[in-house]
Amino acid sequence: MPKRPPSDAAELIPDRPTLASVRAAATRCRACDLWKRGTQTVFGEGASKAELMFVGEQPGDQEDLAGHPFVGPAGKLLDRALVEAGIDRGAVYVTNVVKHFKWEPRGKRRIHKKPNAAEIAACRPWLDTEIELVKPRAIVCLGATAAQALLGRQFKVTAHRGEFVPSSLAPLVTATVHPSSILRAPDEESRHLEMERFTDDLRKVARALKQKSS
Ligand code: SF4
Repeated sequence: MPKRPPSDAAELIPDRPTLASVRAAATRCRACDLWKRGTQTVFGEGASKAELMFVGEQPGDQEDLAGHPFVGPAGKLLDRALVEAGIDRGAVYVTNVVKHFKWEPRGKRRIHKKPNAAEIAACRPWLDTEIELVKPRAIVCLGATAAQALLGRQFKVTAHRGEFVPSSLAPLVTATVHPSSILRAPDEESRHLEMERFTDDLRKVARALKQKSS
């Protein structure tokens, strides 16, 4: 009888994990049903010992096709904000709480669908292992899904964005909006304003990292 894949992502994690071996293992994950819908597992990427890790919700349409996180429109916006905040994109690590794209069809388009609590929990071992291996000094949750997964269900990004929250995950942990929300702003003026606020949140993180190391 063919061997069934483990139903728990933790069972796939190698004994002496490295980012490369965990990334390879995640390609075989079947711990929730999202693998059936997504093109591939989109694992985190970036500097292996990054000081700063960004955690988003899940890969989007373009990320799903490319197999890389934050390469679509929201990722480009994040890149721009990083430049404006003086943070080297090559020195950060970007990932998501859920590694497969959840979507529903609308005509010919694939529309993003929010992952549910069970999917987020099933995927969590991958994120925990990434945090354990990278050991970032700062983690920035992007958007409510990531913030509530990491900081608790009651956490409200709108009320507490940019604040540092005590956490065992890293010395500095904070949350801000997901860059995709800036893209959804109703007009150019509010988009510009939201981009400024987002960049300010990132500047705050850059300053805190500098203070911690001085
Ligand atoms: S979303 Fe996460 S838990 Fe679900 S199949 Fe993909 S990698 Fe596994």
